Amino acid sequence: MSSMSRDALLVSLLLGFTTLALAQGRPAAAPSPGAGSGARAFEQLEQLLPTPSEARLASGAPGPQYWQQQVDYDIKVRLDDERQRLEGSETISYTNRSPHTLSYLWLQLDQNRFKPDSLSVRSAAAPSLSELPYTGLAQTLELENFKGGFDIATVTDGSGAPLQHVIVDTMMRIDLPQPLVPGGKSTIAIKFAFNIIDGTRIRARTGYERFKDGNYIYEIAQFYPRAVAYLDYQGWQHKPYLGSGEFTLQFGNFELAIDAPADHVVAASGTLQNAASVLSPLQRERLTRARGAAKPQYIVTPQEAAQAEKNRLTQRKTWRFQANNVRDVAFASSRKFIWDAMGVASGGRRVLAMSFFPNEGDPLWSQYSTQAVAHTIEAYSRYTFDYPYPVAISVNGPVGGMEYPMICFNQPRPYEDKTYWASPVNNRDRTWERSKYGLISVVIHEVGHNYFPMIVNSDERQWTWMDEGLNTFLQFLAEQSWERNYPSRRGEPKDIVQYMLSSEQVPIMTNSESILQFGNNSYAKPATALNILRESILGRELFDFAFKEYARRWKFKHPTPADFFRTMEDASGVDLDWFWRGWFYGTGHVDVAIDKVLELELDTRDPKVEKPRMKVFREQQPETVTMARNASAPVRTEQFPELLDYYNKYDEFQVTPYDEDKYRKFIEGLEEQDRELLKYGKKLYVVEFSNRGGLVTPLPLKITYQSGKSVEQTIPAELWRYNAQKVGKLLIADEPIVSIELDPHLAIADADTSNNRYPPQPEKTRFQLFKMDEETNPMKRESDAKKATP
Ligand SMILES: [Zn+2]
Repeated sequence: MSSMSRDALLVSLLLGFTTLALAQGRPAAAPSPGAGSGARAFEQLEQLLPTPSEARLASGAPGPQYWQQQVDYDIKVRLDDERQRLEGSETISYTNRSPHTLSYLWLQLDQNRFKPDSLSVRSAAAPSLSELPYTGLAQTLELENFKGGFDIATVTDGSGAPLQHVIVDTMMRIDLPQPLVPGGKSTIAIKFAFNIIDGTRIRARTGYERFKDGNYIYEIAQFYPRAVAYLDYQGWQHKPYLGSGEFTLQFGNFELAIDAPADHVVAASGTLQNAASVLSPLQRERLTRARGAAKPQYIVTPQEAAQAEKNRLTQRKTWRFQANNVRDVAFASSRKFIWDAMGVASGGRRVLAMSFFPNEGDPLWSQYSTQAVAHTIEAYSRYTFDYPYPVAISVNGPVGGMEYPMICFNQPRPYEDKTYWASPVNNRDRTWERSKYGLISVVIHEVGHNYFPMIVNSDERQWTWMDEGLNTFLQFLAEQSWERNYPSRRGEPKDIVQYMLSSEQVPIMTNSESILQFGNNSYAKPATALNILRESILGRELFDFAFKEYARRWKFKHPTPADFFRTMEDASGVDLDWFWRGWFYGTGHVDVAIDKVLELELDTRDPKVEKPRMKVFREQQPETVTMARNASAPVRTEQFPELLDYYNKYDEFQVTPYDEDKYRKFIEGLEEQDRELLKYGKKLYVVEFSNRGGLVTPLPLKITYQSGKSVEQTIPAELWRYNAQKVGKLLIADEPIVSIELDPHLAIADADTSNNRYPPQPEKTRFQLFKMDEETNPMKRESDAKKATP
């Protein structure tokens, strides 16, 4: 007989104990169907998730009827370095792969967000005036005055005939003369221009930076009218661009020609098509060498960049790039750029990891940027798929951290004296911009966005967490494989506790534009949730398999939250509806307390064992105050001893022949295995937990025994399925338990760990006595000043 089935038998024998009903997880009374209801916490998500279809299967995979649009672009732009203006034209080839006929197409005009009368500017709520930083005020004033937005010169069809179009804030509807039938193709040509925004004054994911030497760095994005995504679950995703919610885009192939001053170095999404006409022979040779190099190699050295800064060539060069199967393109241009590169192996190919940055970025950028790009590709590919694109680029300029296919814009730079911080101090922006780990982390994060949402192409305008949360989770894994004890800002459960206790919470499943505390809600909380799911619920093997399956299924497609939730369950084989419900749809936090521990002893029914035990128990009962004070008071039976009878002398704890006979008959009536059980000799404990935070959670326990031995076990969250507020767990031990600790490794984001121990222990904390720095009074200041004057 295995000890397992023996324990089970023992428990069934003991079911008479009321506490054991609790230990089995069954409620003592039926729970009221409120927040504490276990049934509600474990209710399946069917009512919340969209009905599965043959396009999006119940398994979470794309189905046989899945479709998505194909939109290809041929874009030509001219960068005006005198006026900080971009002028261009594009031809859009729109292939309708939906089963629907479209009588109009919607395009996104993202630059229109910077028009003074845009919905974004007009709907901006007043900033908190008590703590408005200078940069905030400068941004507000700049937005009021900046002549931003697209100038749309012409909109025509492939033959040059004008097309009827209507602009609705950041969107443009183009009415098609002939409806676009399923499988059909439309061609649209647009001439456009806009003034480039000052990216150092307006946080805009794009813009220019002007340097003291008169040079500029341009980081250009959202620069061409681009198709609104038309989706099976949404129709046209044309929620306006208000500023927080990012972009929802279709895949396509791009030709991009950038006409820039001849002394600029240009970086862009895609493969450079005309290296021979824009790079020198030396640069081309260095680039070839870098592809095979194991360390970053300069294509443009710091000295060469410093020399180029002094130029102001009037000639022009056109850089041609091609990018296939991407949802967008972006580029950067400057004569200040240093350029380095190294090769990274991914899926049997060599990817070029590259960085473009000014001398102001060194020594940080030469040392860390391209290495961080390469590290990201290696680390992320382990958890998802091989990096499918030819290049991955990190650019230093005005934008603090923003991702595009194959290229991203990142900020951290040292101070002018070349010193910098290690990690950000209290996450303050100014130190983050000047720190080593700030740079490495932002490069990992933004390059990591190639996987989510550039390839696993989720709907950013609707769900920020689907790309930011998943990406921040992988960022944490990548950071931890960069350097031991890397100071990650997000990912560890303990770091999310303060946010989860705050009143400024909305569920993760909230639209991008309505999220309070954007970073905590969409980056840190989902990243932490996935870390907990991986380490404490599914385990690394099941989690990694399921997560990879999600990435593989939705690579180059458009997933929704339901596709993610369903795939993670489908591939892991574990019901996680309670987890998505609590962490993604709720605002509860984790706080479980050990309320008490009951020690249970088995009734052996043997009078020679049980009667002495009961006697000891009776004698151990404390004397009440009344009994103590009455001890010497006269009683009537002392005055009349004849009032005492048989029962006054009867010892109920004495073992009688009757008791022995009864026990013998009881034993004879038992099966052999039950008879063994009565000699079992194990210790039984019931640990009672209460859920004070509301979120149901697994319970990692460390149990220490009298001999000093300790074991760790995690009780699954399903323990809460009958009652999500209060539950007990039966522990069976060979020897007395001396202590029990809940969440010993800070794995579940428990908000209050002071109630996690049996027996309770005082919390240790350090405090300092301090004296307020007093401002000196005017009299003292004046007298000090007089003394100081000779
Ligand atoms: Zn991000």
